[in-house]
Amino acid sequence: MHNILTSLRHNKNLYLVTISFFLLGFINIHLALIGFLCMILPFVLLMNTGKKTYCQGYCPRASFYSKIGKFKKTNQKTPNFFIKGDMKKFILVYFVFNLFIMIAATTRVYSGAMPPMLMARFMLFFPFPGNLPQLVEFGGIAPWITHLSYRIFSMMMTTTMIGILLGFLYKPRTWCTVCPINTLSDAYLTITKKRK
Ligand code: SF4
Repeated sequence: MHNILTSLRHNKNLYLVTISFFLLGFINIHLALIGFLCMILPFVLLMNTGKKTYCQGYCPRASFYSKIGKFKKTNQKTPNFFIKGDMKKFILVYFVFNLFIMIAATTRVYSGAMPPMLMARFMLFFPFPGNLPQLVEFGGIAPWITHLSYRIFSMMMTTTMIGILLGFLYKPRTWCTVCPINTLSDAYLTITKKRK
């Protein structure tokens, strides 16, 4: 296990995990549930190592931004309000709101109060054009799981697209300055340092 983790750390092909995630959503949307790993793993590693280990060496999304950033000739400086201003808080609030809506709607689908929403959306409200192809069917899956899968796919797609846009406007990994995982990890480290 240790050897696998060591070989993955700073692996230059980690960006392929990001691309594979979205391709898997085209094969069958339920595979998008893998996206939860991107939310859980950073905190598991943070609590075990006391460092932002995931961000520093394992994040496929950061690798993806770095990869596409290589196609740019110049990099604009990341604005200060991303690094020290309110943008982190704004994105964190959006992330928490998104999670809340996702859980509330999935609970309503589970209880039969609403049908599953079988489409990907940008920023909660704007449907992506066209349907995901769904090349392989999985039978017998509860509608609330399908709904949740579309929602996690939408959230990952939305944040990835915003990250790509920021990467083209500024430095390739500008998303990392406002990423909720980073903001929450910093808060955790600040709190744990104060307790020592
Ligand atoms: S800040 Fe977010 S996108 Fe950047 S490396 Fe950490 S988890 Fe990945």
